[in-house]
Amino acid sequence: MLTGLLLLTACSGGGGTATPPAAAPPSTSPVPSSSPAPSTVPSTPSTSVTPPPNAGKVVVLDPGHNGGNSANPKEINRKVPAGRGAMKPCNTTGTSTNAGYPEHAFTFAVAQEVGKALADKGIKVVYTRSDDTGVGPCVDERAKIGNSAEADAVVSIHADGSTSASAHGFHVAYSSPPLNAAQGEPSQKLAHTVRDTLRTDGFTTSTYIGSAGLSARADLGGLNLSTRPTVLVECGNMRNATEAAQMSSATGQTRYAEAITQAIEAYLTAQ
Ligand code: ZN
Repeated sequence: MLTGLLLLTACSGGGGTATPPAAAPPSTSPVPSSSPAPSTVPSTPSTSVTPPPNAGKVVVLDPGHNGGNSANPKEINRKVPAGRGAMKPCNTTGTSTNAGYPEHAFTFAVAQEVGKALADKGIKVVYTRSDDTGVGPCVDERAKIGNSAEADAVVSIHADGSTSASAHGFHVAYSSPPLNAAQGEPSQKLAHTVRDTLRTDGFTTSTYIGSAGLSARADLGGLNLSTRPTVLVECGNMRNATEAAQMSSATGQTRYAEAITQAIEAYLTAQ
């Protein structure tokens, strides 16, 4: 009897000892079925995705002038408050290249490109105008848009129209003397960052306005009326052949847009 039992267990065990049956219970344990648990581990990396550094910040882009301004002189010439007790025309037509490419088209195209790039980084972008066929808005309204958006940075984009064809280069204007805290150090820091970045990206500073690409101004309504860090970039001289060609071309506009985008991001990151 005893030997018979031993033989049976040996056959059923397959492994020759009594341990296999003993080991069987562990194999029926939920270990294999619990293996899906580790497979849920990859969900943790998704929680470690960090948002871009400036996500949620607000940037107001102000493309100078507008496509309908020249056809609406009455509306454009009416006087509005421009800060420091001055009254100035609501808006102006802007300049153009000798070939007739208008400043308003250039500023609108560049602002759109800058805005798209910033929005891709999670930055909230507000424009002072949404098309290039309207009239205005007036300079005081443009300032109000930046103020009520509580913008972290406001950048007006322009191009100059010096009568001297040899005059060239960009400059960045800021309000001076400052009328509030935002026009002080924050605006000056923004101006320096934009100047430095454009220079690093290969643009030359103005040969005819300001000093080393910076221009302190007391007469610009949009800057005077702002309560946020604000600058105005004059990208170059549309009457200079080289810069006119650059500002009229899509690739040239992209170069300006990339540099301005980079500058705004650098300023925001440093805040
Ligand atoms: Zn302009």
